Amino acid sequence: MDGQRHRSRRPANHHHRRRELPRLPRRHPRHRHRRQSERFGTKIFTETVTKVDFSSKPFKLFTDSRTVLADAVIISTGAVAKRLNFAGSGEGAGGFWNRGISACAVCDGAAPIFRNKPLVVIGGGDSAMEEANFLTKYGSKVYIIHRRDTFRASKIMQQRALSNPKIEVIWNSSVVEAYGDEDGKGVLGGLKVKNVVTGDVSDLKVCGLFFAIGHEPATKFLDGQLELDEDGYVVTKPGTTKTSVVGVFAAGDVQDKKYRQAITAAGTGCMAALDAEHYLQEIGSQEVGVESGLCAKL
Ligand SMILES: Cc1cc2nc3c(=O)[nH]c(=O)nc-3n(C[C@H](O)[C@H](O)[C@H](O)COP(=O)(O)OP(=O)(O)OC[C@H]3O[C@@H](n4cnc5c(N)ncnc54)[C@H](O)[C@@H]3O)c2cc1C
Repeated sequence: MDGQRHRSRRPANHHHRRRELPRLPRRHPRHRHRRQSERFGTKIFTETVTKVDFSSKPFKLFTDSRTVLADAVIISTGAVAKRLNFAGSGEGAGGFWNRGISACAVCDGAAPIFRNKPLVVIGGGDSAMEEANFLTKYGSKVYIIHRRDTFRASKIMQQRALSNPKIEVIWNSSVVEAYGDEDGKGVLGGLKVKNVVTGDVSDLKVCGLFFAIGHEPATKFLDGQLELDEDGYVVTKPGTTKTSVVGVFAAGDVQDKKYRQAITAAGTGCMAALDAEHYLQEIGSQEVGVESGLCAKL
């Protein structure tokens, strides 16, 4: 687990959540997982794979500084939640990312800063409807801000959201600025919302903002060498982690557009390790040289 979950310090729906983690201590699961892998002889290169060649065996994985040869590959490059860029939306000074702004209602929605507070969801698809409904369990009111006058969500999901008395839709609008709370705690206090038809900018006092505008799976580097679905996610054979290329497996968010949670990613990661191990046994794989790996996981 060395990805998105560790960029957010507060695993909201995970049983390890006891306190805010001020930094990653030596005993943090990430370090423990790393040491455990290394004990079993895993070589870890912290590099970006820019290109792959799955056309012949062994497979080739290219980074800026090396080429890794592998008999089996597990792709687990994740999917990044899309975010909008406006004043106050970012990280660091003057930004409210992770301090009221999130891209995962399921992960963060139950946090105390959102309880019984007015919240906003930005989006117009099924995820936005689902996230807005979900957030009504915690927030006092949930606004959906959408830049058009219709949703592209399915009828049933729209109906569920529109009939929820705690949800109000702000049509034809986009957020132009996020600003801080009056108490100066450095958390989100409200938004400037622009009506894209009239150009009017209004003020909306809210304590939470959730982007629900989709995810982008990290699959560009595969350059068409694996079957992807229409949204760019790796297609796996149901019930397995096998991809369209024998010997290449996929796990985690890169092949899962429905759940996208740490525990489901870890579960499919375990499945991929077992699938890869069986495959390597079947082909009687041997380690083949210094710049190569028996099984590459990225
Ligand atoms: C803000 C936030 C809060 C969350 N909170 C929770 C929560 O409370 N509970 C929960 O269960 N889930 C939570 N999630 C979801 C969870 O983080 C993901 O489901 C999980 O991390 C997916 O794991 P993954 O290994 O598939 O992908 P990731 O964690 O995204 O890891 C992918 C890794 O691959 C690397 N990578 C990408 N491309 C390449 C490349 N070309 N070459 C080499 N490396 C590459 C990335 O840098 C990254 O390190 C949260 C997500 C976010 C964004």
